[in-house]
Amino acid sequence: MSHEKKRSLKAASWAMTANMPLKLKAEVILKTILAGNDPQKRSKIMHMVGERRRLTQPRDRIDWFPSIDTNLCKKCRICLSFCPKGVYSLEEDGSISVTDPYECVMLCTGCQGRCPEGAISFPDKEDFYRYVYYV
Ligand code: SF4
Ligand code: SF4
Repeated sequence: MSHEKKRSLKAASWAMTANMPLKLKAEVILKTILAGNDPQKRSKIMHMVGERRRLTQPRDRIDWFPSIDTNLCKKCRICLSFCPKGVYSLEEDGSISVTDPYECVMLCTGCQGRCPEGAISFPDKEDFYRYVYYV
């Protein structure tokens, strides 16, 4: 695995686990390392985390999702392939859109680190941790 991919996985894992109970956090980090770039394994981890995760507001009232800077995007589709939640869609002209923003996993930023153009951004995580807790 390249240094860039490792850095991206580490950043995504950190964002998702920042306010988890220690035991769950250790489990998620270990499974994420073992999963590497396997989309099915990553999807299973997200499902497991989702089962334990609770939000203080309905998801569609929390504006946590990616934005694409169309001036920077080169339509490489990496984000489309990477996201296991189907947040992105391919448009007829080959551009990528955020079509299911509320499917985005709260505090995940995995696709951001994968974008070679730096075209994906998220709101400040600090403002969003208050919406997430675990059972
Ligand atoms: S990874 Fe970045 S450059 Fe590639 S399609 Fe997605 S936003 Fe555009
Ligand atoms: S769109 Fe959301 S859920 Fe999908 S990879 Fe990006 S941050 Fe994660």
